Amino acid sequence: MKCRNHPAKDAIGSCTICGVSLCEDCAVKVDRSIYCESDVDSVFRPTPM
Ligand SMILES: [Zn+2]
Ligand SMILES: [Zn+2]
Repeated sequence: MKCRNHPAKDAIGSCTICGVSLCEDCAVKVDRSIYCESDVDSVFRPTPM
């Protein structure tokens, strides 16, 4: 399984929300779950600046 964004990199897991394969650079780990960057924003909205 390869990262969706980096075809040369092995994925370490898949996004909990949308299921895309993510490498360690793309995966956002929260607790024991993995999210892609776009989904982690919608799940854990950072406080507006
Ligand atoms: Zn996702
Ligand atoms: Zn990647």
